[in-house]
Amino acid sequence: MRIANLDGRLCLVVADGFIDVEKVSDGQFDAAPERVYERWPQFRAWADTASTADPMAMTNVDRLGPPSPAPSQIFAIGLNYAAHADESGFAKPASHPPVFTKYVTSLTGPYGTVRLPPDGHTDWEVELVVVIGRPAFQVSEAEAWDCVAGLTLGQDISERILQSAATPPQFSLGKSYPGFAPTGPWLVTADEFPDRDDIGLRCTLNGEEMQNGRTSDLIFTVPQLVANLSSVLPLQPGDLLFTGTPAGVGLGRTPQRFLKPGDELVSTGENIGELRQRFVAAT
Ligand code: ZN
Repeated sequence: MRIANLDGRLCLVVADGFIDVEKVSDGQFDAAPERVYERWPQFRAWADTASTADPMAMTNVDRLGPPSPAPSQIFAIGLNYAAHADESGFAKPASHPPVFTKYVTSLTGPYGTVRLPPDGHTDWEVELVVVIGRPAFQVSEAEAWDCVAGLTLGQDISERILQSAATPPQFSLGKSYPGFAPTGPWLVTADEFPDRDDIGLRCTLNGEEMQNGRTSDLIFTVPQLVANLSSVLPLQPGDLLFTGTPAGVGLGRTPQRFLKPGDELVSTGENIGELRQRFVAAT
């Protein structure tokens, strides 16, 4: 199953269009996409039998918002692919994944324009993003996938100068400018993937491939991350977890390369879809 946030309304995504959930369910489910995660098991059961006749045409995709638009928490994991840790000049994390947040005001939908901070080194990081589907506190790895509503794609856009300006480095602020957390284009449930632990991620800059990796190379897997985070604090329905980026970021290239006004970044998740960001200068 796939769900989208179209003009702030929850929709099922079917082969040829969108189904408005509030209308088709006769009000059984709220139109607000953020409300669905509180009732995820009931929604899954309803969606299995919902009528998908007469969908709205898929012509308004530029109006898609984030599939989970009001998470109580956004977690992000650093250095979760060995090749990316290496290109960043860090040792591969051993027992503890580095965790930071992208503040919720940075969250946006899949398509749009992002203003580059002045005098920055702004970089790309394509990532698999987990959306939590039920309260999860102190859950085991074996229980973790049952706590996941689905998966979506994200860009952990990162301003490298600010990210490293403090001592010790504090990643969160440099990764939280407005528009720095695009997600989408929709949420895809884990059963839609041939292997939910092996999903291809790719991004191109002005058509040139920058990153191409697979989530089977994650150092800390999705179940390990959910178990690890929930051992400390409760994860809430709708919360987001950016799982880390594969190699190929601008910081790790020779010479280094960062985003410029006019650049177009296209990120792709296998069996998920595409994000598309255009960058403009700060005014
Ligand atoms: Zn990241």
